[in-house]
Amino acid sequence: MIDPDRVERHLKTLISGDVRFDEITRTIYSTAACLYKIKPIGVIYPKNADDLVKLAEYASDQRISLTARGAGSSLAGQAVNDGLIVDLSKYMNRIIEINPDDGYAVVQPGVVQDILQRELKRYGKFFPPDTSSSAYSTIGGGIANNSSGARSVKYGTTKDYVLSLELVLSDGDLVKTKPVPLELIPDDFPGRPGSLEQEIYEGLKRITIENRDLIERYRPKAKSSSGYNLFDLIQNRMFDLSKLIVGSEGTLCIVTEARLRVIDLPKHKAVAMAYFDDVVKAGMAVPILLELGPSAIDVMDGLVVDLVRMRERELGRFLPEKVEMVYLIEFDGEDSDRVRQKLKEAERSLREEGLVTDFLPARDQDEADKLWRVRKAGSAILGRVKGEKRPLRFIEDVSVPPERLAEFLGKLWGILKRYDVRVGTIGHAGDSNFHVRPLLNPKDPSDIEKMRLIAEETFSLVVEMEGSISGEHGDGLLRTPFLRKEFGELYDLFFQVKRLFDPLNLLNPGKIIPQEGKGFTDNLRYGPEYRYIQTGSRLDRERMHEELEKCDGCGTCRSYCPVFGALGEERGASRAKVNLIRAALTGDLPPEMLTSTEFKSVMDLCYNCKRCLSECPALVNVPMLCLEARAVYVREHGLSIQNLFLGNASKIAPLATTFAPLANLTMQLKPIRWLMELILGIHRDRRMPKYRFMTLSRRYPRRKPTGEKKVAYFAGCYANYNDPAGEGVSTVEVLRRHGYEVYIPKTKCCNVAKITMGGIKESMDDIRENVDILSQLVDEGFEILFSAPSCLLAVRMEYPEILDDERSKRLAEHCHYIFEFLFDLKERGELVEELNPVDMKAAYQIPCHLKALGEDRTLEILRRIPGLEITTVADRCCGIAGTFGMKKQYYDLSLKAGEPLFRQILSSGAELVISSCGTCRLQIEQATGLKTIHPIEVLFRSYEVKP
Ligand SMILES: Cc1cc2nc3c(=O)[nH]c(=O)nc-3n(C[C@H](O)[C@H](O)[C@H](O)COP(=O)(O)OP(=O)(O)OC[C@H]3O[C@@H](n4cnc5c(N)ncnc54)[C@H](O)[C@@H]3O)c2cc1C
Ligand code: SF4
Ligand code: SF4
Repeated sequence: MIDPDRVERHLKTLISGDVRFDEITRTIYSTAACLYKIKPIGVIYPKNADDLVKLAEYASDQRISLTARGAGSSLAGQAVNDGLIVDLSKYMNRIIEINPDDGYAVVQPGVVQDILQRELKRYGKFFPPDTSSSAYSTIGGGIANNSSGARSVKYGTTKDYVLSLELVLSDGDLVKTKPVPLELIPDDFPGRPGSLEQEIYEGLKRITIENRDLIERYRPKAKSSSGYNLFDLIQNRMFDLSKLIVGSEGTLCIVTEARLRVIDLPKHKAVAMAYFDDVVKAGMAVPILLELGPSAIDVMDGLVVDLVRMRERELGRFLPEKVEMVYLIEFDGEDSDRVRQKLKEAERSLREEGLVTDFLPARDQDEADKLWRVRKAGSAILGRVKGEKRPLRFIEDVSVPPERLAEFLGKLWGILKRYDVRVGTIGHAGDSNFHVRPLLNPKDPSDIEKMRLIAEETFSLVVEMEGSISGEHGDGLLRTPFLRKEFGELYDLFFQVKRLFDPLNLLNPGKIIPQEGKGFTDNLRYGPEYRYIQTGSRLDRERMHEELEKCDGCGTCRSYCPVFGALGEERGASRAKVNLIRAALTGDLPPEMLTSTEFKSVMDLCYNCKRCLSECPALVNVPMLCLEARAVYVREHGLSIQNLFLGNASKIAPLATTFAPLANLTMQLKPIRWLMELILGIHRDRRMPKYRFMTLSRRYPRRKPTGEKKVAYFAGCYANYNDPAGEGVSTVEVLRRHGYEVYIPKTKCCNVAKITMGGIKESMDDIRENVDILSQLVDEGFEILFSAPSCLLAVRMEYPEILDDERSKRLAEHCHYIFEFLFDLKERGELVEELNPVDMKAAYQIPCHLKALGEDRTLEILRRIPGLEITTVADRCCGIAGTFGMKKQYYDLSLKAGEPLFRQILSSGAELVISSCGTCRLQIEQATGLKTIHPIEVLFRSYEVKP
């Protein structure tokens, strides 16, 4: 029996990396981008190979299993297990060397694919196995899964690009692979005599030579990431262990370093979309296209196209309605005429054969890049399908020989029709690798049974067609039970291989080699027993449960969540919060956990930037889930002193403005800041906004207009107290310039900060009062305008969610961002176009909350201003997130979260930064030293309107 406390104690003294055995961390790692859920006993974050050596020795001694993990984006359950999870993405993520002349790169396993590609691009190189998950998946995970992507039809899979590996064996030996002449094994083999490494070489040589015919008989005839790759272990009498390690899913060793072959980026590409009205015709097109040597043929079906269309409106002409299948076809090469010619030949052949309904080439590289973005987005976008029936991945990775594809698809569609299931499909048609995802309810026992039957029939069909049950995603818990079907007697050799490497079965057990009595529907994240418990909170609402179930754990949030970017570990990612809340609501965590500080500390790592609302492929409303979870904590413990102060800062603002010079001076005194940090938890180095005596309300007396052309302006605290002469006056005067009478109502603070802190109950009075005042104005014919995106977001998104009533929803429809309003004027030909030159070289930042509100139209107005040079458009988070970055515990994290933005601004040569969010401006000024300005002030200066 393993004693987790003792193991934790030992490991903490043994290794330099982090060791976490707490319930929260274990729960976060209990699932990944798969259908499964298994809680590990602990999670280790090694810092180097030495840590892994010690860990493997200890695990072997104590009989504890080790499961390596990168981004946890593998789809078949490879990255979950019950022993120790070893997360290599946090520390072991360095690019060690890029040698463009000799065409290789040396990396640690935790390097994210796209980061490597970005660096390689600087040398005109790339690493061809490019997965759709490249923005977050790691090289180590790609090696272990033999991952590949759209371009594998031309360039092959990961196994074709691994030159050598450094790895830790199950006994803790650190070894390096390299091709070895077969005859040197075992006697002249340079490894340590009597070592496990030597036993492995000797054993593998024997197995492969003795079973040469059997191995050849089962050599895959289609792209494959199934089973152990015994097929390429010996080539031209050279023995290359790395060929076997690639695709072994962490069951044979842990990779600590990889030397990868990298090649020249092709100079020219030509891309087109081809449309089919029938799946069999789509299948028939593949062998024809392959004759022309494409670099990619990727596929999306009508359901995916429908979902992508909603997101990519500008690409509408490529995304027609009522289409069965669409191929994205690419040719690449050194000669641009040749590449374009091939695309034309492809079109001619497909049209002549009567296979396509249409064929649309991309006009230029920019359009081609956008089409690829669409295809990559399509990979996870099926999460947006609504309802209990979810697009499940279980037969999602089959591949067959191309010449049998049409027949296979016809039969597969027959199976699906018989079980009466709809599907969503994407994939790599060039490899005949179709990611078909049947829509089934994973909580319904009859659908789970259907799942089993469909899997059985589909995999039998695949085997009959000499295909592979996994073309690229790997076996994991999902396909391991079916491997004998695919490999027959050869499967027995896999057991021998595993025993050679891992005699105690401690490396990622249950994958490739099955665990006794375990089927592919065991340990499901959802299953017939899945139930919600009642917490007596707003989290019990069905709406919350739907949000939780929309998240399939894809891991995309590891690429866009700024908190993850700064923290670099799983707890920062959006999905960690979803997994925790789900666990708390389904009894996987003890009920008291929901109100614990440990739980809240993870919820606090969502600072409500709302990027999830546009960038999560399934559009999971993670910020709402997190603030409701924080509200449960606040209900029990109340708001902290820190949150009470920061959440109610607007209450002291009138006083601070009255004594503005004194208040501002006081805030600069070191002892005061030291005291503020000690008592209120506000970081002493945080630059604070200055108060102004001439507030907006002091400048403009409140007189309600009576004319027809009138608007109300919800100025918000920043425009009123901190930047009245800039943001505030400019908004009013620009509106006046358009002939509007402007009314500034006496409202409460929008409370976005307090709501974010979980102070929903504490904000209720202010929210209700604001809704009363603003609704009354709407009744009187006013539209309500905002210059601060966060205030607008509170009224337009948070209030209706919190109040859940018709009145607040109606109010939301009458609230607009100032540039939305001006854009509408422009569309109606009513924008005043007499703009004077403004000599400015500025970067433009789209604040997160503005992005969350929909398409930002600001630049469409600003770009009309003569003399204004926009050096860069930065759609990145600044990291301050209102009051988050003011807190002493998050100050550093907040600056780190903003680093990509600061780098972009500084490298653009901007002399000034335009941003509509007051706190973003504060942060940008502090981090870059550049002055900032609200966009409305830029416009105001161009109008040269005098107040
Ligand atoms: C939306 C989406 C799209 C995808 N598209 C593709 C695609 O186009 N092509 C494709 O091939 N896959 C795709 N995948 C699957 C997945 O992203 C890839 O398999 C990816 O390479 C896994 O990398 P990871 O870092 O997430 O690995 P993880 O999921 O963390 O781990 C994968 C396996 O690698 C092992 N492992 C990790 N690191 C090491 C190490 N250092 N040493 C030994 N073993 C290790 C783990 O134990 C596990 O068995 C997609 C997934 C998603 C969610
Ligand atoms: S929160 Fe969204 S992006 Fe993150 S894992 Fe869930 S579905 Fe994917
Ligand atoms: S809302 Fe922002 S901070 Fe919160 S989880 Fe989503 S991306 Fe991360």
